[in-house]
Amino acid sequence: MNTAVQRLFLALWPGDAVRARLMQVRDTVPARGRPVADANLHLTLVFMGSVAVSRRPAVEAAAAGAAAPAFTLELDQVGYWPRARVAWLGSTAPPPALTGLVDCLQTRLASAGFGDPDPRPYRPHVTLLRHVDKRLGPPPALQAPVTWPVSSVSLVESVTCAAGAEYRVLHTWPLGGH
Ligand code: ATP
Ligand code: MG
Repeated sequence: MNTAVQRLFLALWPGDAVRARLMQVRDTVPARGRPVADANLHLTLVFMGSVAVSRRPAVEAAAAGAAAPAFTLELDQVGYWPRARVAWLGSTAPPPALTGLVDCLQTRLASAGFGDPDPRPYRPHVTLLRHVDKRLGPPPALQAPVTWPVSSVSLVESVTCAAGAEYRVLHTWPLGGH
């Protein structure tokens, strides 16, 4: 195993109450796929991929210096991406504070020499199930949105284990303190 690189991403990491709501919503989706483990539910902000361990301080500095306010995220829509074969929870109207935060992080990472490995437009979502059956019917309507008070950003390492991906939160920075 090459220990000189880590697979990193920046994410919104839910607290216990939001995680419990995400689990509830996940469990309303027909189980025609592999549910994401409770502890793995999250929302990716920026995916960096393989980063040399020696470059981690630069990633941390970029994240730590992001001046962005805390905000509330309303997740009100379940959907499927048939090609990616995932079921997700997202927002019909992502708040400008979220897109602003992601732009800010991307810009700061780019100036630190980290290119964005994903050229596709950013679509904020929490993955609920993977490997979903392509014959899924329409996604279930939500009884109530998930209200997520967002007050921090986390740097997370993704480790591939026999049982699938395992995520480790390495560091968390508060928002709104600038
Ligand atoms: P696995 O790849 O082992 O099936 P995973 O996709 O959950 O599991 P990672 O690939 O390490 O684990 O991804 C970590 C997070 O980053 C996930 O939220 C994933 O959706 C997101 N991600 C992965 N690759 C990209 C990419 N190229 N662009 C944007 N986000 C990505
Ligand atoms: Mg992946």
